Amino acid sequence: METGRQEFTRRATIKGAGLFGAAAVLGATGAGATSPIPFGSMNTWSEIAQKVIQTPFVDTHEHLLEEKSRLSGKNSRIQANDWSFLLSHYLDSDLFCAGMTEEEMKQFRSAETDPIAKWKILEPYWPAVRNTGYGQAVAIAFQQLYDVEELSAETVGKIQSAYEQLIRPGFYEKVLVETANLDSCQVNSLEGSAFQESDQPLLLMQDISFLGMHVGPDIGGLSGPAGIEVKDLADWHKVIDWWFDKYAKYAVAVKSQAAYGRDIDYADVPAEQAEPIFKRVLNGEKLSREESKPMEDHLFWYAVRKATACNLPVKLHTGYYAGHGGRMPMSRLMKNPDSAIELCRTAPETTFVFMHICYPFYEEMISIAKHYPNAHIDMCWAWIISPSASTNFLKSYLVAAPANKVLTFGGDYIPVEPVVGHAAIARTGVICALGQLCDEGWLDRKRALDLVEPIMCGNARKIFHLDEKRRNLEKAPWKA
Ligand SMILES: [Zn+2]
Repeated sequence: METGRQEFTRRATIKGAGLFGAAAVLGATGAGATSPIPFGSMNTWSEIAQKVIQTPFVDTHEHLLEEKSRLSGKNSRIQANDWSFLLSHYLDSDLFCAGMTEEEMKQFRSAETDPIAKWKILEPYWPAVRNTGYGQAVAIAFQQLYDVEELSAETVGKIQSAYEQLIRPGFYEKVLVETANLDSCQVNSLEGSAFQESDQPLLLMQDISFLGMHVGPDIGGLSGPAGIEVKDLADWHKVIDWWFDKYAKYAVAVKSQAAYGRDIDYADVPAEQAEPIFKRVLNGEKLSREESKPMEDHLFWYAVRKATACNLPVKLHTGYYAGHGGRMPMSRLMKNPDSAIELCRTAPETTFVFMHICYPFYEEMISIAKHYPNAHIDMCWAWIISPSASTNFLKSYLVAAPANKVLTFGGDYIPVEPVVGHAAIARTGVICALGQLCDEGWLDRKRALDLVEPIMCGNARKIFHLDEKRRNLEKAPWKA
């Protein structure tokens, strides 16, 4: 292990790398030229930082709109096509919880309000949310994309004109690849139905959203494109088959966020038991969650088995809920880890990817990845929910569970701009986790450096078969 205590030129390292936050990271170790450093050293931190900065992330989860939707500005998700859009997902939730009123939020979001005047509405609350992960992601985007050090009355005009300037054909590439240093993104599209035929299929790789296959289910939305009239459960199975037959070779995974309405406790219910419930849904009956559970459970497994047969990993939302003030029963979230175990045991051949580290119950998820070969943990969204908890998660994970089953970045954004901030926060966190493990003596310099590539991109390439998907997408019929 290194014990060197050389002072290194922090500024030069950071400037060359162009990473916001690394200065803070390297300064925050408390290890100066004269302070004793137990195991790691400033050289170790600096080498880790360099490598993390240079290594591209495979971004395993986004909700990005298609670039053409952003260029047109016409999409229901874009309330006002101005700089306030960067705050609409997720920082608005922190603003509400900091005390912003409904009326103020309405004004702030409105396309009718002058973009410059929006600062006055935000100003009283900005100091309270500036340091949360959501706030930092936006502030870093202002710095890296608009060259504005801090949002204020003086800079809001520059931010607005830079916002407009940036949105030109090709800007997704500029933001995601050139600035955020991402290899590719995996999008759970909110625009299409179950699969989005992206105009940029190699940059915006896609999940099949199977939410509507098992929750609801979304009979109208999903049977239409398939051209199948649904008269019974067997017809619905055919609809699900159609989506997989058409898109499985182009999709990277399947994804469901059903955990926003229920636990992930899916019993393996046979078709005969689901059929009468499905019939009632077809007849337009409004069923309670309890009544429809056996049908949802059956359909979940039908789709999951289909995904498994197609070699597609199954991504499931776990833990914390986006939004504010709604129902977030902690007792239900708490059950997610236990239910995740049942899933892993029921289908050992299925690759499960548990998203968002099940925040705040992340130690439980580490124990699951340690115990079940098919359990993978994805840190998507987690860095901006809690940067410090996420650093602790990664530190704890890397010396407890196999390193080939952790995925360390997914921006989880609808607007593309804050992905830049989220990626910078994630890089800061990866540097902190590895640097601290060296300082504490759990890793040495070489083993820490060896972990960078797999956890930032290599694991994702293997788990989601990205080389094969790229080859298939090159030949996708909708590819320009
Ligand atoms: Zn998401």
